[in-house]
Amino acid sequence: MNALDRVQENLRRLKLYRMAEILETRLEEAAQDNRCYTDFLDDLLGDEVSAKREKNLSMRTTMARFPFVKTLESFDFNFQPSVEKKRILELATCRFIANGENVVLLGPPGVGKTHLAVGLGLKAIREGYATCFTQAMPLIASLTKAYAENRFEERLKFYSRPRLLIIDEIGYIPIDRHGAHLFFQLISRRYEKGALILTSNRGFGQWNEIFGDPVLATAILDRLLHHAATVNIKGNSYRLKEKVKAGLVRAEECQN
Ligand code: ADP
Ligand code: MG
Repeated sequence: MNALDRVQENLRRLKLYRMAEILETRLEEAAQDNRCYTDFLDDLLGDEVSAKREKNLSMRTTMARFPFVKTLESFDFNFQPSVEKKRILELATCRFIANGENVVLLGPPGVGKTHLAVGLGLKAIREGYATCFTQAMPLIASLTKAYAENRFEERLKFYSRPRLLIIDEIGYIPIDRHGAHLFFQLISRRYEKGALILTSNRGFGQWNEIFGDPVLATAILDRLLHHAATVNIKGNSYRLKEKVKAGLVRAEECQN
């Protein structure tokens, strides 16, 4: 076995796969450009570190269970002027996560609530925060099931662990009293410790109806909003805009 083969084999044994893959190219470049040993090694290690970082990000993105992967960079702020770009970019620094604070995105269907929540989630992952995305209804179903099976505490721990928990679509379907009570316990457990992003199509004034109990709704809102940024989106549906473009609906149907 020649030295090159042996180096490649050893790199693979050390799980430095990207280095093994790119070694020959880097050797040729170094010979051509007369690069010094340090620069050659610097390039090669840089390749491995970026490859490992990308792999780690992609694994953590999969683990977050987003419904789709869309970035803040792909959000058209001109289409939705009620969303202040500067505010979203401030949230994208993830300071609210470090402080255990919350973000609530309110607005009618199709205005980009889930897109913004996912975009912020992706930033959180890049900043190294464990992130988990769930819709409200499956979350409450899973808490209710765990409660019935005497595993509630375990489930509560599961949803308390991620530094950022995104709960999407609160209010699309009413929540029963027991479910609301379990949800309240989750909000209490994360209060001032773990950050939340919540999205809802209903204003806070209507949350009594969602939770079917004004006392419980007030207790939930009290903790949720104590340290929270609320983004009220008042625009038109982006989904409908695309349909208008495709000629499937008339423009006047697009106004909320
Ligand atoms: P909501 O959660 O408010 O119902 P979504 O975030 O699911 O809306 O948005 C609906 C679709 O439109 C998604 O595919 C989303 O990426 C896209 N979208 C919404 N608003 C924008 C925007 N301002 N710029 C780019 N895409 C957008
Ligand atoms: Mg949505």
